[in-house]
Amino acid sequence: MEKTKCLIIGSGPAGYTAAIYASRANLSPILYEGIQPGGQLTTTSTIENFPGYPDGTTGDDLMADLRTQAERFGAEIRSGIVTKVDFSASPYIITIDDNDTIQADTVIISTGASAKYLGLEDEKKFAGRGVSACATCDGFFYRKKTVAVVGGGDTACEEATYLSSLAEKVFLIVRKDYLRASSIMQKRVLENPKIQVLFNHNVEGLYGERKVAGMHLIKNLGQPDESHYDVDTDGFFLAIGHKPNSDVFKPFLKTDAAGYIVTIDGTPRTEIPGVFAAGDVADPVYRQAITAAASGCKAAIEAERYLSNL
Ligand code: NDP
Repeated sequence: MEKTKCLIIGSGPAGYTAAIYASRANLSPILYEGIQPGGQLTTTSTIENFPGYPDGTTGDDLMADLRTQAERFGAEIRSGIVTKVDFSASPYIITIDDNDTIQADTVIISTGASAKYLGLEDEKKFAGRGVSACATCDGFFYRKKTVAVVGGGDTACEEATYLSSLAEKVFLIVRKDYLRASSIMQKRVLENPKIQVLFNHNVEGLYGERKVAGMHLIKNLGQPDESHYDVDTDGFFLAIGHKPNSDVFKPFLKTDAAGYIVTIDGTPRTEIPGVFAAGDVADPVYRQAITAAASGCKAAIEAERYLSNL
């Protein structure tokens, strides 16, 4: 069976940064790209908050740069999805595409998280053209415009509040008649004159020519007084939760209630020696490209130290 000193799973900022550091440390890492080569950033348009790009860059270009940088130092990047792991004894055994197996002394899990979407066809149609699942990434493009945020939890309230500092008007679309967010976040939203909360509302579609121009709403879905109407908006933000891509590791690693891999004391270490988790798969809080990259760096340093201590 093929064997590697360092196997990296996932090709977002965490995975590629881990690959840069691990290859420069002579670990000859092998990286499997996973379901979405380049990760979540390839679904956003312009990136203006990644240090080092004063004029901004695109998600695709940033990820291509990170990949080139990792390959320059010898990281081997392969397409393939990890479908099974066996972390019961070292070296660990990882199955790719239900078919190939590879042994690894260290494993860096950087499989990311996927934003949840409502499942509307229009979300795909307008992806990157008005539809976003990250207010911090894309809010800046909606200065003095109208935006809508879907969700009633802390993320939705936080994103609506953040967007209200940029946009002229924010609609918060909540499917129930209450917010699930913490009371302080609720208060902040309800007292914000720029935010209008539409309780008991669902979104059934979006409209627009090249980009989003508005949304088709349903009020009081399933009630006798159910009604349908349209509201114009320039931006449409989903904040209905994220799903960390951790299912395949769950038989061996501790995850929190939402599925994020639990790491030790703010490091990328997991309970299993030599297995590390970096980026969004282990980060329910920050979820930024730069924080993911930083934790990928930490994971590679940890992997190198672990191997040299063996
Ligand atoms: P949550 O699961 O807490 O909330 C999701 C929200 O989206 C709910 O209001 C839910 O509605 C709504 N929703 C889910 N699916 C749909 C759908 N198909 N259509 C319409 N609405 C939908 O997720 P969050 O991302 O907000 O938070 C995740 C965790 O992270 C929480 O524990 C939260 O407290 C924490 N967090 C903490 C922050 C902080 O402390 N600063 C900031 C952000 C998150 P419903 O209520 O009807 O189910």
